[in-house]
Amino acid sequence: MPEQSHPEIRESVRRLCAEFPGSYWQALDRDRIYPTEFVRTLTEAGFLSVLVPEGFGGAGLGLSAATAILEEIHRSGCNGGACHAQMYTMGTILKHGSAEQKARYLPGIASGDLRLQAFGVTEPTSGTDTTRIKTFARRDGDDYVVSGQKIWISRAEHSDLMVLLVRTTPRDQVAKSSDGMSVLLVDMRDAVGNGLTIRPVRTMLNHATTELFFDDLRVPAANLIGEEGKGFKYILDGMNAERILIASECIGDGRFFIDRASAYAAEREVFGRPIGENQGIQFPIARAYVQLSAAAAVVDQAAAMFEAGEPCGTEANMAKMLASEASWYAADMCVQTHGGFGFAEEYDIERKFRETRLYQVAPISTNLILSHVATHVLKLPKSF
Ligand SMILES: Cc1cc2nc3c(=O)[nH]c(=O)nc-3n(C[C@H](O)[C@H](O)[C@H](O)COP(=O)(O)OP(=O)(O)OC[C@H]3O[C@@H](n4cnc5c(N)ncnc54)[C@H](O)[C@@H]3O)c2cc1C
Repeated sequence: MPEQSHPEIRESVRRLCAEFPGSYWQALDRDRIYPTEFVRTLTEAGFLSVLVPEGFGGAGLGLSAATAILEEIHRSGCNGGACHAQMYTMGTILKHGSAEQKARYLPGIASGDLRLQAFGVTEPTSGTDTTRIKTFARRDGDDYVVSGQKIWISRAEHSDLMVLLVRTTPRDQVAKSSDGMSVLLVDMRDAVGNGLTIRPVRTMLNHATTELFFDDLRVPAANLIGEEGKGFKYILDGMNAERILIASECIGDGRFFIDRASAYAAEREVFGRPIGENQGIQFPIARAYVQLSAAAAVVDQAAAMFEAGEPCGTEANMAKMLASEASWYAADMCVQTHGGFGFAEEYDIERKFRETRLYQVAPISTNLILSHVATHVLKLPKSF
């Protein structure tokens, strides 16, 4: 295996994760409980603020440090989905916020006193077609008044702030469909019960995802990030970091499955010999390793381009697609290698299998990535 970046960070993440064994995650998973203690421990160790510049109290490291952290969390059998947004959602404020907004929010986000874990884009009727979102913010004096609905907004109940995408000009009144959307920073502590209702959605994995209802929620106009009407571009900027980081979680998941499958295949004896002696068992493990190694190289490339400030939309998308498919192949292989035990809760394989499946759908589904490559890179005709 090629040498991995940030070996010291990886080692300390592994040590921290060892305090949160499978039994911890199994108990939470059963009742869909948020891993508060795990998130607190990561926060106190400074792992969630590595991307915040030093001037605002973070470590000021590049994206590859964050990919190393998330990969190791997932390789250890833990799950960063509960808190990965605290790492990168602040990028919208950092990149597009005013000096006053940065000074007001970033130090608290770096220390963990302010949780910015929620990112509200998806809506039930528009789906992936983001320019058709209907949640609307009407200007009224010093406030925006927000009405509408969002779905699949993860960690909203465990967040003090939310980066929210709204329409501020109706779609039929703008020259380009991506114009007329804006980003608001919503203080959830003021909003809940005053125009914002959060309803948890139970899913096949423990991801604290929710549905949000906005009913004339007042948000101070001072909480507008950047310019009104330019919000779609700001959101797209943040998505590259998100895709690369989630790809690194998939790489971690894949390594978890390969580690577990290799160990089990070497030790489990059937017909008087280790099952791993059979090529029918060996080859899928080896194939998972080959596929995951290739995906990891693309994730590293995308992270390096992001760190260098180069445009990396295509690479971020490709990294997410390859990594999510490689981790899913590894998950399936790991269940097969374990036979019946792959289904047993105490082995953690079935839990990780459910968790890693998400990433072919969210934060962007595979078809939409293929569509980006087909039309933006290969210049094939657009289908929508
Ligand atoms: C657990 C979970 C957590 C999430 N967390 C968040 C969050 O925190 N914030 C947030 O904003 N969103 C979140 N999402 C939403 C997620 O980003 C979307 O589910 C995802 O982008 C897909 O959108 P959709 O569900 O509306 O699918 P749709 O857009 O309805 O698409 C359904 C299927 O059709 C395919 N499809 C659609 N159009 C085309 C086309 N033209 N050509 C080919 N195929 C097409 C898609 O690829 C997909 O497979 C989360 C989702 C889940 C499940």
